[in-house]
This record gives sequence, C-alpha cells and structure tokens, in this order.
Amino acid sequence: MLKKLNLQKKRQITKKKKSKVKKEHYKTLKLKPLSSKQIATQNEKKVKQKKQPNKRDTKKNICLIGPIASGKTTCASVINTDGYFVVPLNALYASLFDSLNLDDLSELNVNLHIDDHIVNIVSQLDEQITMPIVFDGFPQNLNQLSKFVEAGGHIERVFYLDASFETLYARAYERLVCPNPNCSLVTNRYNANVVDGFLTCPICNSALTVRADDNLFSLDSRYNEFYDYLGEIELGCNVLDIPFIKVDAEKDPMNVCKDIIGRLQ
Ligand SMILES: [Zn+2]
Repeated sequence: MLKKLNLQKKRQITKKKKSKVKKEHYKTLKLKPLSSKQIATQNEKKVKQKKQPNKRDTKKNICLIGPIASGKTTCASVINTDGYFVVPLNALYASLFDSLNLDDLSELNVNLHIDDHIVNIVSQLDEQITMPIVFDGFPQNLNQLSKFVEAGGHIERVFYLDASFETLYARAYERLVCPNPNCSLVTNRYNANVVDGFLTCPICNSALTVRADDNLFSLDSRYNEFYDYLGEIELGCNVLDIPFIKVDAEKDPMNVCKDIIGRLQ
C-alpha cells in the first residue's frame, strides 16, 4: 500500500490539524478496526493534505511490537484516526522489495543490510509525514531501533503486546483473510458469514481463506524470532530513555486498544 505513497518522489506533506490530536479526540473515538485497504486510503488522504518542514524530534511516534496475532494490526488500525499515520512493517517490506527490485529477501545477504534498508525507509517516511506515526511491528530488533534514533528519529513509547502461546496460537488459527484485493479484511471465523457451508467476508462476501503464513512451522519460527529480539529491544529502550510499556494482550483486542489509547493521553 505504501507503494502508492511514492516515496521516491518525496511528495510534500503537511501539517494537518496537528492540534487535533487531543483528548476529545480519543473520548469520541469509535473503537472499530479498519481493513488494510481503509488504512491505506486514510493514509493517502493524510499524505495529500499538507506541507511544512518536519520537526522529527518532537513527533510523538509510537511503536507496537508483539508476536503474530498479538493484536498489533488491530490496535494500529484503531489508532489510525486523524492524529496518527500507520506504517505496518509488511508494507515496509513491500516498499523494500520495490526499491531493491527483488522478489525475495533471501537475495539480501545479511541481516544488517535488511535493517539498514528498513531504517532508511522508516526514516524517509518520518521526515515526510508531519503527524505522529504508529509503527506496527517496528523495530524488529535493537539494531533497527538504535539506527532509527541515530538517524534523528524520535519514539515516544514502545508498546509490547504480551500474550500466552495458547492465546496466540488459538488466534492465529482462527484468523481468516479476504482474498479480494479491494477489501483484504483480516477477520476470524466468528465474524464471518456462512454461505452454503463456506465462510465468507462480512464486507464483500468473497470466500475467506486462511493466511498463507499461518501454518505451524512458520508460526513457530516467527515466534522464536520475535522472542529472540524482545530482550534487546527492551534493553535498548531503557538505554535510550524510551518508555517500554508491556500491555496485557491476553484480553480481547478491542480492550487492548482501549488500554493503549488510554496511555496515549
Ligand atoms: Zn472482503
């Protein structure tokens, strides 16, 4: 989706009603997750809105980190209101592929290389976008965190969404996606409609599918990878004086959102 933002062209962006990021805003906020398509549309509107030099060091960017199915994307989509711009990590990868013209990350030889590219993209976005950003799934490790800060980025808080393996696995297995590219809803079997024995999208009625990356092997390795780096991210936050806030993500994702939004005020 970020491809549409056309990073290379450095479209100029502006300070929207930045002053609008305030308490009333959250009081009236409707807690309803958006689809990735809706987020992309909202983000695009925000990008088109204005231009002004950006003061990166005063931006209240926040990071949501957590293992798969911990609720990061749901929370990011709820926080994606007038005041925040959402940058999901998977979109960073998409724009990384774009800029490198690669189909497969395996063609990049070392991790450091990947981190450098990710941090470059994140920093460019941070320079271009005046409003505070919600990074969904960034940073993935200490290297990314420290490089972003070294490059002049500011992170106001890092929220770690913590839940048990049982909960995470159960959620990941319940997760279904809408294959319609204009919809791309991520949902679960309880929210789906049932038509002739098929689970269908509650928005566009396409037959829902299981996420390709939600198989047992990939879940295990992705959980391991996440927890391998969690400790160093927390340590890095302590050293860099960034509040690292552990959020109980065991509960329903909507309540997790309320918890996080409450802490943003
Ligand atoms: Zn759909």
